[in-house]
Amino acid sequence: MTNDCKKVQQPPEMASPSLLCVAVPLALPDLQYLPPPGDDPLRPLGSRVRVPVGSRQYVGVLVAITPTAAIDPQRLRPATAWLGDEPLLSGQDLDLLRWCAGYYRYPLGLVWETAVPAVVREKGLLPPPENRGWRLTEAAPLADAPALARAPRQQALLETLRAGPQSEVMLRQSPAWDRAMVRRCQEKGWITSWTPPTDPCEPAPLAALERILNAEQSVAVAAVGEQLGRFGCFVLEGVTGSGKTEVYLALAHRVVSERREQVLLLVPEIALTPQLLSRFQAVFGDTVAVLHSGLSDGDRARHWSQAARGALAVVIGTRSALFVPLPRLGLILVDEEHEPSFKQVEGLRYQARDVAVWRAHHWGCPVLLGSATPALETLHNLAAGRYRHLTLTERANGAVAPHLALVDLAAGNAGAGLTAIGLAAVRTVLERGEQVLLFLNRRGFAPVLACVGCGWIAPCPHCDAKLVVHRREARVCCHHCGWSTPEYHKCSRCGAAPLIRIGQGTERVENEVADLFPGQTLLRIDRDTVRRRDALQTALAAAQSGQAGLLIGTQMLAKGHHFPHLTLAVVMDADQGLFSTDFRAAERLAQQIVQVAGRAGRADRPGRVLIQTRFPHHPLLIGLLTGGYRAFAETALDERRQAALPPYSYQALLRAEAKTPEPPQAFLVAARDRCLAQAMATIRCYGPAPAPMQRRAGFHRFHLLVEAPERRALHQLLDLWLPGLKDEVTTRSVRWALDVDPQEG
Ligand code: ADP
Ligand code: ZN
Ligand code: ZN
Repeated sequence: MTNDCKKVQQPPEMASPSLLCVAVPLALPDLQYLPPPGDDPLRPLGSRVRVPVGSRQYVGVLVAITPTAAIDPQRLRPATAWLGDEPLLSGQDLDLLRWCAGYYRYPLGLVWETAVPAVVREKGLLPPPENRGWRLTEAAPLADAPALARAPRQQALLETLRAGPQSEVMLRQSPAWDRAMVRRCQEKGWITSWTPPTDPCEPAPLAALERILNAEQSVAVAAVGEQLGRFGCFVLEGVTGSGKTEVYLALAHRVVSERREQVLLLVPEIALTPQLLSRFQAVFGDTVAVLHSGLSDGDRARHWSQAARGALAVVIGTRSALFVPLPRLGLILVDEEHEPSFKQVEGLRYQARDVAVWRAHHWGCPVLLGSATPALETLHNLAAGRYRHLTLTERANGAVAPHLALVDLAAGNAGAGLTAIGLAAVRTVLERGEQVLLFLNRRGFAPVLACVGCGWIAPCPHCDAKLVVHRREARVCCHHCGWSTPEYHKCSRCGAAPLIRIGQGTERVENEVADLFPGQTLLRIDRDTVRRRDALQTALAAAQSGQAGLLIGTQMLAKGHHFPHLTLAVVMDADQGLFSTDFRAAERLAQQIVQVAGRAGRADRPGRVLIQTRFPHHPLLIGLLTGGYRAFAETALDERRQAALPPYSYQALLRAEAKTPEPPQAFLVAARDRCLAQAMATIRCYGPAPAPMQRRAGFHRFHLLVEAPERRALHQLLDLWLPGLKDEVTTRSVRWALDVDPQEG
């Protein structure tokens, strides 16, 4: 270092053998600084440091130390100060961020911003939680006391404590947690503080808590179990209801109790965390925590810090939990690995499933991808021998697979968007006291508001999209940009009135079904009905208990959940995915149908599934019904191979947008010419073309697709092509981004 330092000719006052390379949360490359003044000039990589950028201060992370100035040494500024005493990220954690930045071509500082919660970036790891808890006093009122009638949260808290004292860490994870409410209960003398025992929490003996694994489950656990301590990627292909969760639990238990390591369980959406959390808490107590965007900033930072300190045995989280530091990571589980939500579609456009496999490889631990309907990419990796295959072919609790049938929508609407066959089936099931799920992946009342006089359809002023009627709010809303306005009552073009609402959304189904089945308890679950943080959990609990006979829901309700009373699922309209321009639409549709079907008949009564369609002879639907998902997937993969589409090729999509259509097109034309100038024989370049929805939120969007037969060739091209691209941006009005392994057009 000292030698290097001599080589860099610097004026003495500027001389420094060590320059700090700091990633800051800005769209900039890593920046160089002189060490901050003080007697502690250097810290380990991964430490936080405050640095000036222009006239502002940012908190960055130290990613490298170098003797060589990348800019004129005279212009180097000192960092302002070190923050915190310990590095926030280990070398391995930094490798993960660096790899994501490199692979997805995104500035490291913005990866750091994505990966680490804001509170932690600013304040560092939060201190371990106080070891305290609460217990009931003699004065606590009975469960049905009138004092509690109008205080359901207090009632819930007392109910929990009635089962025994609880640590605050555990109580905090309940959706009903509210510090002010706890204080009120304390002031009333109903609860008092309690100190939990300080022993490190041992996982409960598994046998005492869980079912005996069946043969296939045992094989799966043994296979992954043998690989502990080494990398290996496994696919757990288990039909819906086959008990994949039990496999996750058993494996996690081995990892924690035998190896004292940590487990990361990724799930596709927040809605799936409560059910899993309670299953895992039963075994691991308060050494389990969730991480997702529905938490308050404080809770997210607390759970993140606990995990990073090694104090959590299991972290259950959505895709961004992938980045949480786990000093003793021993196993990664990815549940419902086929779900598109593992791909982030803004900012750092990463695919969490893929990065999970990279992370497991780099950390040297196994990773298990679970699904009833594995992604075609995953099946392709299996066929290529890169992943190992584990299967659960039967429902675990003796339940039989549901029976699927197609119903022709040409028969007409007998009410609420159901055909006569559908309606009769719903009636029969409700009369038996069982539960029905009506699945429609379209929220709102009606997707179209139209004028019968001239054919005008109410459009979003900012998007190439129709406005959706939301009747209860009496508004029309754009589901793409969020714009909304009071519902129109006459035509904007010809002035005619009234307008008609065409088509079905979940709100309309709910209304009409209520008229058809008066006295039935209905429960609609979609993004409009469960806006509040705990509303979804309350709704899911009501669905699980069977207290609502009729469930109406979007995809929110379709995946992963276990509703023991549900015996009939109706896919209201299967046609949305049949004729899409997106080559992935068929895969998504097949997965969705199998997942919705998987909600039916999971307990002791057999399930039935009706799939309503205008195309009952469509080969995809027939294939799915006769051969199941596996047969569908084989055909679909064959089609992809013939068309050289992913997973048989590798893509990157260059997206550009602006308030007017010309600048992004001009940019992409220049980008295309630069791409072709690289003259790489195997690269194909398509476009520029308008995005599937050209105008969205006021922006005109276009893209350019590049494709290569090998991943390596694609990345070689990106290395050569990207650095010069920003020079092609002739106007500041163009926003552009690269999407590596895009999942949508
Ligand atoms: P999946 O996630 O594969 O759809 P779940 O893990 O939700 O399935 O399990 C479905 C049902 O089967 C649950 O009620 C679960 O408790 C039960 N189950 C799982 N494994 C067993 C087993 N070995 N014996 C009996 N019941 C089981
Ligand atoms: Zn009109
Ligand atoms: Zn819009």
